[in-house]
Amino acid sequence: MSHSLAHPSPDRRRLLTGAAALVAAAGLSSSASAREPRRGPFTSQDNGERSGPITLMDLPYPDNALEPVVSAATLSFHHGKHHKAYVDNTNAAIKGTDREAQPLEEIVKLAAAGSDEKSRKLFNNAAQVWNHDFYWKSMSADGGGKPKGDLLAAIERDFGSFEKFAEEFAKTATGQFASGWGWLVQEDGGKLAVMATSNADLPLVHGKRALLTVDVWEHAYYLDHQNRRADYVREWIDKLANWRFAAANLAG
Ligand code: MN
Repeated sequence: MSHSLAHPSPDRRRLLTGAAALVAAAGLSSSASAREPRRGPFTSQDNGERSGPITLMDLPYPDNALEPVVSAATLSFHHGKHHKAYVDNTNAAIKGTDREAQPLEEIVKLAAAGSDEKSRKLFNNAAQVWNHDFYWKSMSADGGGKPKGDLLAAIERDFGSFEKFAEEFAKTATGQFASGWGWLVQEDGGKLAVMATSNADLPLVHGKRALLTVDVWEHAYYLDHQNRRADYVREWIDKLANWRFAAANLAG
């Protein structure tokens, strides 16, 4: 009896693996498997390589956990392509310099203080690594709703009500001209505020403490919402905002 009847040939196996990879890369999911956790094709776990001391953090949830506000296709490309490129560019820029031994926040602050082209380029990439790490944590599959406890009290104190805060946050994030970020921040003295930053800019270099952020670069929402940034931001607040993370960032 030929054992090729019992076992697929190597060629056949390659074909099957290739087809599975194509389906994964296209972000396709059948209705039966739509909610099953799975890893996308570009996560650091899959390629198993590090380009230097700055690492691409693993997503804290499966690629499809944030659907339908953020699709698996968007999340997979955003993390595995855009975020990974910022990590690789940062590692390439600090290779062989003192920066290799420094924590990411320090690299970001020092690059922000420099005025030459090299510093500007390093800032744009290192700050985007920090921003994306913070953005993934700012979302949760069971997010949205209202914060609780001290954070809710602080929001009501500084914005009047949670609804007024949500309106102001949405308006600020949506109104950011071109690429950037919307933030809930804590200022010196403890007051909460919302702010928008352009491109890679972030509260850290403006003496403010970040509590929560939404990415409003088009790559964050265009596949799912096209040009409707306001819809993405509103649904993001209603369904994804990770208030446990924001509360943990609140200074006592
Ligand atoms: Mn982004």
